[in-house]
Amino acid sequence: MAARTCTHFTSDTKIPKPNTPQGCEECLATGDRWVHLRLCLECGHVGCCDSSPNRHATKHFRKAGHPLVASFEPGEAWVWCYADEVFFETAASVR
Ligand SMILES: [Zn+2]
Ligand SMILES: [Zn+2]
Ligand SMILES: [Zn+2]
Repeated sequence: MAARTCTHFTSDTKIPKPNTPQGCEECLATGDRWVHLRLCLECGHVGCCDSSPNRHATKHFRKAGHPLVASFEPGEAWVWCYADEVFFETAASVR
């Protein structure tokens, strides 16, 4: 099996300002809870991870088609591409 690569994340990819730095945008609106947070690298959407009841980061990818999310957890420095299903570590945490 050939190693998968991501064509979306490049050295020019900028980390956007989070729209809702305090938490998942949709969960904040409905008063729901989340486990971990993911930051969309295209529009700054903050959504909750797949361990969270509402999985808003994945729903955001399905709806908006933005493939790249970074971990929005302090001390974690990695990016996941939904389109290519590739995980890679990055130089610095986005938070
Ligand atoms: Zn990709
Ligand atoms: Zn959520
Ligand atoms: Zn987005």
